[in-house]
Amino acid sequence: MKSLIILGSTGSIGTQSLDICRRDGYKVCGLVAGSNIELLEKQAREFKPSKVAVFNEEKAKELKIKLNDTDIKVLSGVDGVCEVASGEGEMVINAIVGIAGLRPTLAAIDACKTIALANKETLVTGGEIVNRKLKEKGVKLLPVDSEHSAIFQSLQGAPENSLIKILLTASGGPFFNKTRKDLENVTVKEALNHPNWSMGAKITIDSATLMNKGLEVIEAVHLFGVPADNIEVLVHRQSIIHSGVELSDGAVIAQLGTPDMKLPIAYALTYPERSETAFEKLDLFKVGTLTFEKPDTDTFRCLPLCIKAINEGGLAPTAVNGANEEAVRLFLDGKIKFLQIADLVEKALINVNNKKDFSVEDIFETDKLARQLVRNSI
Ligand code: NDP
Repeated sequence: MKSLIILGSTGSIGTQSLDICRRDGYKVCGLVAGSNIELLEKQAREFKPSKVAVFNEEKAKELKIKLNDTDIKVLSGVDGVCEVASGEGEMVINAIVGIAGLRPTLAAIDACKTIALANKETLVTGGEIVNRKLKEKGVKLLPVDSEHSAIFQSLQGAPENSLIKILLTASGGPFFNKTRKDLENVTVKEALNHPNWSMGAKITIDSATLMNKGLEVIEAVHLFGVPADNIEVLVHRQSIIHSGVELSDGAVIAQLGTPDMKLPIAYALTYPERSETAFEKLDLFKVGTLTFEKPDTDTFRCLPLCIKAINEGGLAPTAVNGANEEAVRLFLDGKIKFLQIADLVEKALINVNNKKDFSVEDIFETDKLARQLVRNSI
């Protein structure tokens, strides 16, 4: 049985990962949260990891006092998060939200841990550096994002170099078929009302703007080594086909299932084996019809902006990601309107001081500048 470290354990993917650990008896060696120490304390008492980390320093101090009666070491800040990511445990599930997931991924690769990656921002911002490091260290990275897990599953047994095209499916989010006029005054509550998936707030807004699909195109470029031009985005409202591939002989292979993140999480944990699961099984008679449509890229501009960013390469994806993270935060706080998110992402892409060879420090500097640009623009 594998021993696991779960980063972002208090979030949507993190809690679902712990449900699997509870059911299948995985040993949990480390847990990480941003600031939710109430839930982290409960998780720590139940799973008894040797170390936990809280990004927020003040909250970490409070948790240390709460866990005084245990042997669990409480760490803090980004260094503490990276210490947990590289500590005891064979596999790291990275379910932190945002670019905050990048350094812990790099720390875990340096410590030769297998990575189960939900945090898409890791590859969006640091894809080249992560891929180089994975090769250097001989470390495996398994996708948890449902679309990328589906592509990965569809490629099992496919000969090397046979991948021609990726078919990346998108639910279309809560605002499918809406016009720009309809979207002018949508509320946070409406944007958080995803039709098929229950997820954290940031990714739910990203699904409503189609930024999520754009980030996934970038993630797929780094994971599967295909150019963005060979990735076709299809709006598939039922979220039953989680994505697929077209191979050199024209065969199309896809992975289907009910919309439940526990399957891709479990697959990353058991790969290349498959475990029995208790999740709801797919009943195609109940689904009846599967539909496919082209995305409306005039209304949902974040998707083409992400494609432009990955085609430009270098630090452009980091700029759009940083601007989006800041813009989504401002939208959730009621400070900007829904359609402004794409405007701000575009502004960051236009203004990025790009370079092809870049370091981790350059990534964080670009992220900071993109966020500043967004804040100064409203
Ligand atoms: P949530 O917002 O539900 O959870 C995020 C987690 O990250 C929480 O545990 C949070 O802690 C923690 N966190 C936030 N900031 C920091 C930080 N600076 N340092 C350490 N931990 C931090 O997000 P999701 O679970 O929805 O998503 C996580 C990642 O997985 C995202 O990148 C998302 O795009 C990706 N993903 C999610 C899917 C889903 O179904 N939810 C599907 C596919 C991909 P706290 O609770 O204390 O704030």
